[in-house]
Amino acid sequence: MAFMQLEGLGKRYGEIDAVVATDLAVEQGEFVSLLGPSGCGKTTTLQMIAGFVDVTSGRIILDGRDITHAKPASRGLGVVFQSYALFPHMSVQDNVAFGLRMRKVPKAELQQRVAQVLKLVRLDPHAERYPRELSGGQRQRVALARALVIQPPVLLLDEPLSNLDANLREEMQFEIRRIQREVGITTLMVTHDQSEALSISDRVVVMQAGRVTQIDVPYTLYEHPRTEFISGFVGKANRLCGRRDGSGEVHVCAAGEGDVSLSLRPEKITLRGAGEGRLQGQISSRFFLGSQWLYSVSTALGELTVVRGNDGSPPLNEGTAVGLDWASDLLRVLRGDEVSA
Ligand code: ATP
Repeated sequence: MAFMQLEGLGKRYGEIDAVVATDLAVEQGEFVSLLGPSGCGKTTTLQMIAGFVDVTSGRIILDGRDITHAKPASRGLGVVFQSYALFPHMSVQDNVAFGLRMRKVPKAELQQRVAQVLKLVRLDPHAERYPRELSGGQRQRVALARALVIQPPVLLLDEPLSNLDANLREEMQFEIRRIQREVGITTLMVTHDQSEALSISDRVVVMQAGRVTQIDVPYTLYEHPRTEFISGFVGKANRLCGRRDGSGEVHVCAAGEGDVSLSLRPEKITLRGAGEGRLQGQISSRFFLGSQWLYSVSTALGELTVVRGNDGSPPLNEGTAVGLDWASDLLRVLRGDEVSA
């Protein structure tokens, strides 16, 4: 049995099925993200595990113990919210020590554990400061330290980085992953940010309208999205129409003439000279992303997005005629959506 197991977990709010029959097995030391659009049931799932929301159906098993109806405190899980919820009148070290004081941990051990965890999150030089004297990223580290100091079996993170600006967010993604690896703690994170889920997790659980629609390692999720919704939600995707020939091979065709839905990632399309490749087009617009150029190309199959790495050479101008090419094994056949998002 896995370290943490959700079995047919469900939550109803009156007429609303917030979470429906969710099964998930998380191994010890694994970092798993719950990813999905607003209202899909991510937070409700996390809150049921934390014990803040009553379970309507199913079970939660942690390390062989059924904790479905246990009191939140007796579960002893570490929880970090997007709002940090630090005590403003307490110093960094007192914020971190709080959970240990509540548990009546002896003073010498308390001091040693607080010092150790402050070092882990690299806040040891700021132990005496108050939350108002810290940056957003530093406050987030205090919240993380406070959750980790009690040495919980599982760390639950609810959109922990959503209050941070883009650069800091990226830096903190690396930090959270480093800390999680160093401690080896089993972690479940809620996020609606697909790039965050892909970059930080061992596995990603995609949720849609209260249901789990795909569970995979980030690379597989990106390369083999199961449904139309997932292909568009996780990364950018060109949606094309396809037809199977007699031998089962799939070919791209004009909209309305095919019988399968296809996805082709923008970076999988190569731009060639006019007259070359599988399809002809014209650059209709371009966007500079620094390390990449993103081109929108008008073609007989519709407007396609193409991403090209910036190798330092000048970009293609709008209006340029181009050929588009791709390896046919990079086309992904998608299923229709089983649930409406
Ligand atoms: P977000 O990213 O916006 O936080 P989420 O995926 O975390 O969304 P949840 O907060 O889990 O979604 O909500 C799932 C569904 O349950 C939504 O339809 C929401 O309106 C509903 N819901 C959540 N909490 C309650 C509540 N206390 N009472 C009634 N309905 C609720």
